Order: sequence, then structure tokens, then C-alpha cells
Amino acid sequence: MSNHAADHSRRRFIKLTVATVAAAPFAEVLLGGTAIAADTVAETDPQAAALGYKADATKAEKRTDKTALCSSCNFYTGKAGDASGPCALFQGKLVSANGWCTAWAKKAA
Ligand code: SF4
Repeated sequence: MSNHAADHSRRRFIKLTVATVAAAPFAEVLLGGTAIAADTVAETDPQAAALGYKADATKAEKRTDKTALCSSCNFYTGKAGDASGPCALFQGKLVSANGWCTAWAKKAA
């Protein structure tokens, strides 16, 4: 490869890298936003309704432990501090960190 061809190739690589890095946050917002909206469990979902799931735990009539939240449930795998996260009972769909349902089980320490 000649020096000219190598320079051209290097410049093209740098341009592509810069463009990809610059576009990545926008792609994440677009794709991430769509995925979250599509995968959130609705209280009207038949399984959610059967389990008395409420996105706001304070609205769940059967909840007796006032400290019980999805974020402290063994089936919840969301990150601490996130507003929502996956629940194993809903095939990994997102539930509210402040939600609750009758299947709540204290997270193992
Ligand atoms: S099983 Fe646990 S994490 Fe899933 S909805 Fe019920 S309380 Fe929330």
C-alpha cells in the first residue's frame, strides 16, 4: 500500500470512528426509549392484575409490609437507584422499582 493510500485509509477510519462515537448516544436514546416503553408491565396486563401488581406500591391493597417494594424483591434484577427494572416473573419485562405484587419475596442478602 502506498503512503497516499495508507493516509486515505487512516483518514477514513478516523472519520468513521468519530461519526460512530458521536451518533452512539442518540442511537441509545432512540432504541433504549423504545425498548423501555414496549417492555413495561401494565397494571392491566392479565398476569399483573392476577398478582395485584401496582406500579405504586402504596396503592396495592393487599400489601401489609410497608417496606416491601419491587426494588427489594428477589425477582427484581434492576440496578439500585433506577426507576424500573426487569422482573423474572414477567419474563424480564420492566416493573416499577416502587411497585409491588402478591408474589413479592424478600431479596436474598
Ligand atoms: S415479583 Fe417482585 S419484582 Fe416482580 S412485580 Fe412482584 S413484587 Fe415486583
